[in-house]
Amino acid sequence: MNKGVVLAADLGGTNLRMAAVDSDGGLLYRASTATPRSFDHGELLNSIEILSRECNEAIPGDHTIEAFGIAAAAVIDFDKGRIRNAPNMPELNGLDLSAELTEKIGVPVTVENDATAAAIGENWLGASRGVASSIFVTLGTGVGGGIILNGIPLRGVDGTAGEIGHICVEPAGVACGCGSTGCVEQYSSATAIMRMANELQKHYPDSLLKQNGELTPLNVFDAGMNGDELAVEVFRRMGSYLGIALADLVNVLNPEVIVIGGGAAAGWELFIEHLRAEVSKRAFKQPAERAKIIRAQLGNDAGILGAARLAFIKLA
Ligand SMILES: [Zn+2]
Repeated sequence: MNKGVVLAADLGGTNLRMAAVDSDGGLLYRASTATPRSFDHGELLNSIEILSRECNEAIPGDHTIEAFGIAAAAVIDFDKGRIRNAPNMPELNGLDLSAELTEKIGVPVTVENDATAAAIGENWLGASRGVASSIFVTLGTGVGGGIILNGIPLRGVDGTAGEIGHICVEPAGVACGCGSTGCVEQYSSATAIMRMANELQKHYPDSLLKQNGELTPLNVFDAGMNGDELAVEVFRRMGSYLGIALADLVNVLNPEVIVIGGGAAAGWELFIEHLRAEVSKRAFKQPAERAKIIRAQLGNDAGILGAARLAFIKLA
């Protein structure tokens, strides 16, 4: 019997990753390449086509690729499959990505925001499996988010729903790339960990971090696990600020589960207690007690699996 398979891709400003995925979420084959930096959308579409051909040729002969889901680092018009705004890939702005790729590859194509896709992936096969209302937060260079409420991903009329990273937690705080100040992204991302560690160094002359030349989020975490007071303070701030933002979301959305992923979630042991304390302190008692705050399970594959899930839904 012929087995249905979909292609799924995670398209970011640095890497383009793709996989052939079966209906159980099994990754049959993976391919990846650097995202072309010529800022020419034709070249980017060609890269996608080349990887899709590689995946198609690599899967067993009794499998057929029937649809294609893409998770893109962009604001999306989901219904039209159009890229509204991709800050790191401006060549895609306004492009009907779904229509362009359907023509090239010959299968239906869905396009979703990458953090929303990751929320869908974790909801399908990961930490929030089987849960109707969940929030996914990813802590990387920035803070991204995806929200699923009563089984439906929130996208909003302009595709910007779920931009958790730009919840204000410090009105007179650090300037953010979005034009506002004090966004949680400026306090709880991997970038923020390094900034705060740098800024606080002068108050901690004995910090282990002072002796190390290079400051990375991992160094700060390692120092914190060794009891370094500067590093512990950085993660206290990171967790507290994220907790302030999540307390608002708990009150507004009443989720069953909040899933936290991304590279900086590796600092979990150093920030989670402070995060939970802020949620308990600020949110209504009942939704705060209900909302389980847990780590993501799918790592880098959450977006690809969410995109695959959407492709299967489109087929159904
Ligand atoms: Zn912002």
